Amino acid sequence: MRAGRIRGTDVGSGVVSLTFARGESLRSDVRRARLVIVGAGPHALTIAAHFVAADRSLTDDLVVIDPSGTWMHAWRRALAALEIEHLRSPVVHHPHPDPYGLLAFARTHRRSPELHGKYQTPGSRLFDDFCNHVVDEFALGGTVMPGTVTAVDPGGLVTYCVDRGRRTERVHGDQVVFAQQPRRAVRPDVGSPPGDRRHRHATDVDLDAVGAGDHVAIVGGGLTAGHLACGAARRGATADVVVRRPVVEREFDTDPGWLGPREMRAFLDTKCLEARARLAVEARGGGSMPGWMLSRLRDLAAAGRVRIRCLDGNERISDLTTDAHHVWYATGWVTDPLGDPVLGPLVEDSGCRTVGDLLVLGGRLELPGTAVHVVGRPATLHLGPTAGNLAGARRAAALLAGRDPDDIC
Ligand SMILES: Cc1cc2nc3c(=O)[nH]c(=O)nc-3n(C[C@H](O)[C@H](O)[C@H](O)COP(=O)(O)OP(=O)(O)OC[C@H]3O[C@@H](n4cnc5c(N)ncnc54)[C@H](O)[C@@H]3O)c2cc1C
Repeated sequence: MRAGRIRGTDVGSGVVSLTFARGESLRSDVRRARLVIVGAGPHALTIAAHFVAADRSLTDDLVVIDPSGTWMHAWRRALAALEIEHLRSPVVHHPHPDPYGLLAFARTHRRSPELHGKYQTPGSRLFDDFCNHVVDEFALGGTVMPGTVTAVDPGGLVTYCVDRGRRTERVHGDQVVFAQQPRRAVRPDVGSPPGDRRHRHATDVDLDAVGAGDHVAIVGGGLTAGHLACGAARRGATADVVVRRPVVEREFDTDPGWLGPREMRAFLDTKCLEARARLAVEARGGGSMPGWMLSRLRDLAAAGRVRIRCLDGNERISDLTTDAHHVWYATGWVTDPLGDPVLGPLVEDSGCRTVGDLLVLGGRLELPGTAVHVVGRPATLHLGPTAGNLAGARRAAALLAGRDPDDIC
């Protein structure tokens, strides 16, 4: 490999000419694809399905790169770790271009009982099977390459490591979409000694490490805290859910008005981007729990297994967690595009404006002057407060395809 930093790509016929910072150029056989997606989670699947639905020939010209080499690996692992039985979002939010696709799938396979409550939130297994169905329907099975993307240049040249970093491969995408959720876990500083294994962020919790008779303190008032408390109680432990304010009851991460065009129109009409960012923060608020989780916790409280403990003005988190065998922080995460080793340099080099941690992108969610598009939470200014959710993935897919998101969401 030649030393020097890649500056840009000049696409020739089937061969890519790489221009290095020192002015050298190198011709090399690099695979070309019309679309390259970084990450193979639900956002990537939504985008891939929408693009292939519009142009079937794209299947052969699409490369998705994810360390797992499979679709939805991180999603499945996250839901399994928390023993989540069904999603929080309604039945119309999923990767298929047809919003009613999941409903029809459930009916056809006589699985409607796996849709829960007024909004028919899908069971996790049903959702999983439906995602496999989407992969099959759009012939996306062979599109995911195992690998970790280590660099992307503004012209769409993607470098990724395979075989545990032993080998480097490259692919050039006419369009590259970042769908890998750059993020940083939020954890309050409670002065626990470094390496204290009792303390874990929710993303690292192993519920099976809890034994009967253990006591668990869970910091946070969102749905994740509820799932963790239920998981601990199922194992015969007791749990305190430690919150700063009374738990807020809400069906979804945001008010339902944000899931359709109503709130989004006013949001996008807000020209001041700082004001938009504030609107998005307010819309998500802090953590909240749907009514069904609150009633589960009330039942567990009645059985003496769970307490919800609200810090009073003088108490610190550590005052309520010192006696616990396990202290778990269900305190969420923030989007961190600038801290991402691949996306961060691209954002800086492209001169992309930022508002806090949010990116100011072009009409098709592209970094200015590049072939690189960004979806998920970093694109909140364009997708609204549900940017990181399945609803946001649908909006992103529509924008990338040059369609009106309100037609398909
Ligand atoms: C427990 C849980 C439950 C949720 N439930 C819901 C719900 O019910 N409804 C809803 O709308 N939203 C829900 N969400 C929010 C959101 O939909 C999920 O976080 C979802 O996984 C986001 O999808 P994604 O594709 O953006 O990211 P991910 O699912 O995180 O996928 C990103 C992928 O990118 C890969 N990746 C990372 N870095 C690289 C790299 N350098 N190179 C290649 N690949 C890389 C990762 O390995 C991962 O596989 C939930 C989130 C969590 C954590």
